[in-house]
Amino acid sequence: MAAKQHTNGTITITYDAEVCTHAARCVKGLPGVVDANRKPWIDPDGATPSEIEAQVARCPSGALGFLRNAD
Ligand code: SF4
Repeated sequence: MAAKQHTNGTITITYDAEVCTHAARCVKGLPGVVDANRKPWIDPDGATPSEIEAQVARCPSGALGFLRNAD
């Protein structure tokens, strides 16, 4: 299955459930962006692009991805 994309027009967060190891680092590190009890559960407006980019880099499995959309 391809990674799902969550965009706010400025940035896009991608998530691949088949790769995720459920370490929950993203939930703890970005609670405003990643909330398993919300739909959609990833909200790109929940933190600054720089904060999101830094947390995506800490995802141990590579399930999370980050793109800055072209202007
Ligand atoms: S940090 Fe990465 S591996 Fe851990 S729950 Fe989030 S997406 Fe999955």
